[in-house]
Amino acid sequence: MTVSVSMGPVEGSADGPRQSVTFVRGQRVIVECSQDWCTVDHKTRDERFFEDISHMSESVSVSAPVGLGHRREDILEGFLVETPFAAGPRGPRPVFAFDATGSGEFAELSKHQARAELDRIAAHIDRLRHIVDAMPDA
Ligand SMILES: [Zn+2]
Repeated sequence: MTVSVSMGPVEGSADGPRQSVTFVRGQRVIVECSQDWCTVDHKTRDERFFEDISHMSESVSVSAPVGLGHRREDILEGFLVETPFAAGPRGPRPVFAFDATGSGEFAELSKHQARAELDRIAAHIDRLRHIVDAMPDA
């Protein structure tokens, strides 16, 4: 586990190299955040449950035109997330949260699964480029 929480009283700020004070229902706790990819400002959080404590990377997405009006919607959104105290299959390991369609539903993928999906999408982009390149120049 890469994160631990101290239930004892905390005086001042945490002094570890990657420790931060955070809050659960107003109670100060120390979060050990050893992930280089975590961009969460833990000291500004006040979670309801320990299970809500999470580490997250920045989220990236790309916009694409939709419909005849060419409105743009974000697709292919992904970020890393780890919830060290969550129960269930996620467990204390990071997953790649991936929303391919912009629906707001995120698949939780292992590194191996994420790389396989991204490789399939990259190959698909190459096929789309090939089709577009077949168009006559306007
Ligand atoms: Zn963190």
